[in-house]
Amino acid sequence: MIEFILATGNAHKAEEFSELFDSKIITIKAAPKKLEVVEDGLSYFENARLKAEAYYKEFRIPVLADDSGLNVEALPNELGIHSARFGGVDLSDVERAQLLLNKMDGMTNRSAYFTCVICVYINEAEIFYFEGRMSGSVGYNYLGAGGFGYDPVFIPLDGEGDLTVSELTEWKKENSHRAMASRLAQKFFSQRS
Ligand code: IMP
Repeated sequence: MIEFILATGNAHKAEEFSELFDSKIITIKAAPKKLEVVEDGLSYFENARLKAEAYYKEFRIPVLADDSGLNVEALPNELGIHSARFGGVDLSDVERAQLLLNKMDGMTNRSAYFTCVICVYINEAEIFYFEGRMSGSVGYNYLGAGGFGYDPVFIPLDGEGDLTVSELTEWKKENSHRAMASRLAQKFFSQRS
C-alpha cells in the first residue's frame, strides 16, 4: 500500500478521489495545509506537476495532484487548461457553466471532452503521470444537482441519452476522466508493489 497527500483545495475533487481508490493499494489524505500554487504551465501535465512538486517540496512526502478541465471544440483556447478561470476568477462554478451556455448559444458544434491528468510525485527521481478523458457534448440547459463545475452542462457520450453528468452521479464514479486516470494509477501501483 502506498500513501499520498492530495494536492488540492477543491473539496469535491478530494471526495471523488477518496472514493476512487482501493485503500489496500492507494490511500490518500488531505495535505497538512493548502498551498497557493501558480498554475502557469502550458499543459495539464505541467500544471499537475507544478502542484505536486510544490506540495512535495513543502512536506517531503509522496503527493498526488491532478489538473483537469473541459476542452470545447468550438471554443479553442478559452477553456482547456484555463477552465477554472473561464470568464474570470471571480465567477462561481454556476456562473461559469451558465457563461459557457450563453457563449455557445446558436452554436451547433457542441463537441467537448474532459481531461484529468494525475501526477504522482514520490520523490525527485520518481514522478508518474496518468491521463483520463470523458467525451461528450455541451448541453443546452443547466441540469442536475450532483457533481461540480461543468457537470450540469455536460452530456457524456456513453451516459444515458441527454442526461448531464450532474444527473448521473453514480455513473460518474465509474466513468469520469478522474475515474479513468485513477484506475490507471491504481493498476500501476498494484503491479509495482
Ligand atoms: P483544476 O483542475 O482545479 O484547475 O480545475 C479545472 C476546472 O475544470 C474547474 O473549473 C473545475 O470546476 C472543472 N472541472 C474539473 N473536473 C471537473 C469535473 O469532474 N466535473 C466538472 N467540472 C470539472
